[in-house]
Amino acid sequence: MNQAARSIAILGSTGSIGRSTLDVVAASKGRLQVAGLTANSRLDDLCQQTQHFQPPWIVATDAERAREFDWSARPDGTELLVGQRGLETLVSQPTVDIVVAAIVGSAGLTGTWAALQAGKTVALANKETLVMAGPLVMRLAKSRNAKILPVDSEHCAVFQALEAGRRRDVKRVILTASGGPFRKHTTEQLAQVTVDEALAHPTWNMGPKITVDSATMMNKALEIVEARWLFDLSPEQIDVVVHPQSIVHSMVEFQDGSVVAQLSPPDMKLPIQYALTYPERWECPSPKLDLSSALNLEFEPPDLDRFPAIGLGHEVARAGGTAGAVLNAANEAAVAGFLDGRLAFTDIVPACRSVLENHHFHADPTLQELIELDHWARQEVTRWVCT
Ligand code: NAD
Ligand code: MG
Repeated sequence: MNQAARSIAILGSTGSIGRSTLDVVAASKGRLQVAGLTANSRLDDLCQQTQHFQPPWIVATDAERAREFDWSARPDGTELLVGQRGLETLVSQPTVDIVVAAIVGSAGLTGTWAALQAGKTVALANKETLVMAGPLVMRLAKSRNAKILPVDSEHCAVFQALEAGRRRDVKRVILTASGGPFRKHTTEQLAQVTVDEALAHPTWNMGPKITVDSATMMNKALEIVEARWLFDLSPEQIDVVVHPQSIVHSMVEFQDGSVVAQLSPPDMKLPIQYALTYPERWECPSPKLDLSSALNLEFEPPDLDRFPAIGLGHEVARAGGTAGAVLNAANEAAVAGFLDGRLAFTDIVPACRSVLENHHFHADPTLQELIELDHWARQEVTRWVCT
């Protein structure tokens, strides 16, 4: 291996973020090396990636699928690990420098947790981990002297903009939101939304769960909570503005009224690479901002009546405790119900609110309590879903 190379393990390498991460690795001229890849269901894709990048380890997280799969195409130099144990073994390898947390949903928590426990730097795409257990995850990172670097484009932008001033001079953070495919829909039109329409995002190409989250704007709710814990902000310091072009990825306003923003075309390779090369900046394979022709950047306040998820995000960020885990799990179950055609698009957010309001709030939960509440909230959503 190249001496100066950074060695990375990609949890969820077959997903949208995982594949973009491999594009960044491929363009890095050997400065990034793949130590390990993991996948849950697309094991054919995992095998192809393994042949191409020849990592020392791969993990198939679903043990049953792994047993049934034909691994004959796996290169000799790659060891196959299975299940959560396999994930934990991979992230704690001494040769791993950075763990890219790109598993979707609360299933991403255990890998990130194990990586932080092993003192690794985590490039965090899996925002659900912070929504679910933000204070515990940040405390663990601090106690192990492990860094969490944001991959989410808004948080990467905030992370960069924060470098322009002192923390005590930060007035507020302004997260931008594309507004999703239904930005201009009336309430009546929203009630008729189909799965195909919800999966057609105007500016970002992402996995199905986050694409639906963007359409309901629950993604922004989750990002408010993510920003609260990641940057230790008060919920009142986090605002949202709709910016349909997705070029300004977020902004920080300082006490003097200066607003510092980060701009680039919508492509996740840039925030992924920044987390992998930080504090260095390398040439990046993502498209560049072209200012040689006219460029319009629009900003408008979000419509909190048509998109009530944003209000829910602020409420949960204020409540802390068990609220994040319940919101996150209810939303995952509701989105799954919508994708299966068993829940209306406009029932996703009310289902989440109802589950949240019915749960026994606890201000300082343990990780085990959060995991149990995650299961409970999923169960509660079944009341909303037609069978
Ligand atoms: P995706 O659906 O495309 O990929 C998900 C990955 O997770 C796959 O590799 C899959 O094998 C793995 N996975 C799924 N269920 C699993 C389980 N139970 N156990 C272990 N592995 C499992 O998702 P994505 O769009 O790449 O998003 C990944 C994460 O990144 C999400 O948390 C999302 O919110 C966040 N994120 C994504 C984008 C984006 O542009 N796609 C942007 C910002 C943040
Ligand atoms: Mg985002």
